[in-house]
Amino acid sequence: MLVSKIFGVLSRFTKNIVATLKLALIQVLVLFVCVIMPAQALFVSPPKDPMPLIKEIFPEQTRISDKQASKEGGSLVWTIYSQGAKNEEILGYAFETNDLAKIPAYSGEPVNMLVAIDPEGTYLAAKVLEHHEPIILAGIPESKLHAFTDQYSGLNVSDRLKVGGNQTEGIVHIDGLSGATVTVMVMNVGIVKSATIVARELGITSASQEAIQPMGTIYPEFFEKSDWTTLTGDGSIRKLYLNRKTVDDAFVGTEAEHVEEASAEQKQDMFAEVYFAQLNIPTIGRNLLGDSEYDYVMSSLKQGEHALILMGSGYSFKGSGYVRGAIFDRIQIQQNNDAFAFRDLDHSRVPDIYIDGAPDFKERSIFIIREHHAFNPASDWQLELLVRRQTGPLASIFTSFKAQYHTLDKYLDRPALIMPEPELTLAQQVWQEKEAEVIILFILLAIVMMSLFFQDILVRHPTFMHNFRHLFLIITVVFIGWSWGGQLSVVNVFTFLQAFMSDFSWDLFLLDPVIFILWGAAAVSMILWGRAVYCGWLCPFGALQELMNIFARYIKIPQFELPWAVHERLWAIKYLILLALFALSMESLSLAETFAEVEPFKTTFLLKFDREWPFVLYASALLLINIFNRKFFCRYLCPLGAALSTSNSIRLFSWLRRRPECGQPCKTCAKECEIQAIDPNGVINMRECHYCLDCQVTYFNEEKCPPLKKLARKKARFVEENKEREIPAINVG
Ligand code: SF4
Ligand code: SF4
Repeated sequence: MLVSKIFGVLSRFTKNIVATLKLALIQVLVLFVCVIMPAQALFVSPPKDPMPLIKEIFPEQTRISDKQASKEGGSLVWTIYSQGAKNEEILGYAFETNDLAKIPAYSGEPVNMLVAIDPEGTYLAAKVLEHHEPIILAGIPESKLHAFTDQYSGLNVSDRLKVGGNQTEGIVHIDGLSGATVTVMVMNVGIVKSATIVARELGITSASQEAIQPMGTIYPEFFEKSDWTTLTGDGSIRKLYLNRKTVDDAFVGTEAEHVEEASAEQKQDMFAEVYFAQLNIPTIGRNLLGDSEYDYVMSSLKQGEHALILMGSGYSFKGSGYVRGAIFDRIQIQQNNDAFAFRDLDHSRVPDIYIDGAPDFKERSIFIIREHHAFNPASDWQLELLVRRQTGPLASIFTSFKAQYHTLDKYLDRPALIMPEPELTLAQQVWQEKEAEVIILFILLAIVMMSLFFQDILVRHPTFMHNFRHLFLIITVVFIGWSWGGQLSVVNVFTFLQAFMSDFSWDLFLLDPVIFILWGAAAVSMILWGRAVYCGWLCPFGALQELMNIFARYIKIPQFELPWAVHERLWAIKYLILLALFALSMESLSLAETFAEVEPFKTTFLLKFDREWPFVLYASALLLINIFNRKFFCRYLCPLGAALSTSNSIRLFSWLRRRPECGQPCKTCAKECEIQAIDPNGVINMRECHYCLDCQVTYFNEEKCPPLKKLARKKARFVEENKEREIPAINVG
């Protein structure tokens, strides 16, 4: 009678609690639909139209071409023009990173950006057109992304850029974005890679130019007496030679094709012949000018300035139309990405040359390269000769011809080339960047492994074990969770499954080393010991709950435990949530990600509670409940814990010790297990256990474990009895 009354009360109590919890679950779902679904709209960045942005970047443009490839198979680029007085000039180029370097970012989708460069390869702007990075809009204002891309303006395609890190010579550092490291690193690679492709295709840069030649120094004392034939023969003096056919061919297909065209007999005639050399090399300068003229030229040069000599016949390299103060418009020097022309103040005539064997020249000039051009005598350079043909009273068309100059090694100290570091993949860059975290994390994992291997020794020292474990949990929360954002999520499982079912590549997973290593550790520990090790030691939210609850118990906050029958049934909720999320992920990963906010992880660790209030309220409520009921969220709601515990059937080891008396009659461990993972029959449910080792401390404690106590008593009695039976020894001496 009494038993059935008690059972009746219990069953009503159970029903009420189940009904209350069902209601709570429905409320949670309603909260998700009402509050988080509208918030979902925030996660989608509406794509921007690039055209208004291009017009904003190039306010003086008069024409924007269609987006088209400059050559067959080339990249899609907009070319932006402005109408000058005579001709249309190219102001720059614009392109979308998704057309050239589509790299998945944190969300698995690429960040599409509009990048604009000028004809010299200088970045004019980089603007985000579209992204799906949830973390950005959820916690980090969009303006920070724009501030990140604004850093590219003024940099050059040939600059070696790196996001974050310490200052390094030869590398331009760009500020990263805390909390969105992977996103901005992917953006950097997208911008640099696409700009490099375009710049190479358009001939703005070449792969070889990207090696850095440190500044060379001409040997001021090195001199060899020489003649014209020797100096032109060994390349000390170079020649740009054009016959009329070469020039005519260069104008074919232009309006100037037949202007001043040579007849068939004239085709091989000389059009222009220009000898050129670096005059401040003593062997060249002294032999050409004689000692006194050379010394005079050298004394007129300032620090960092260089003198070139040009000697020509045929087509005038100076031109007839140049006026005082103007620029010589027929020649310029190119070195790496720089091109520099000369003004009249940079020029002086050479009255005569004294070297033996030199031909006569119509023009002889010295041109000074000023210091601000940072001319490097150790780097090759080109003399460019512009040939212009008049096509109307004011209109003309020009073409240009180049000849290379390489300073001989014997004339200067040429430091070795600094070769560009081999390009690291994005994943390699991220791992290099997070080297410290990776090393510390491996050390922490080694410590956990060692603790488990030697758990039987550890649990015999309860005070040390508890202190050690609490310290480890603090590290898990502070470093793995808050500092490194190393909180696994059930979304990772879905992403992995989806990747597995499509084109699997490790690249996406390698982008976050901490998450990657933690998943590796979770996988290994699941096979060896089940989900328990991750949940009990490495999960930041689990650790945070445990630490809060330990403190709550320490200050004597009363705890409540649900009756076993209720508790056991409520376990099912987390599996139902997991199933629902899995079904959603089949439909849409981003939808599943939205509903996976049932995990309060993003709010707690990635965004550190700096978020919209419903998310903060939800995470805080779970932590508050945990103060009264240890790891409430883990026990009943966590879909990640549910996913991990599905591996229980493949678990290899069972190192948590039990005695035949566990459960029947002894209930000590079952009562002590603070997440109720021990069945009333004494069996540890490894799907629920968090490997805190508390039951193992009891197992080895002769003062707590009743069977052990009994054994100890028996032993003591046996020793006593044996003492009594002992026959006293008699000294027969
Ligand atoms: S159940 Fe979830 S929150 Fe709890 S420890 Fe495991 S993974 Fe972390
Ligand atoms: S007390 Fe024992 S059964 Fe309970 S969680 Fe800790 S290790 Fe697992």
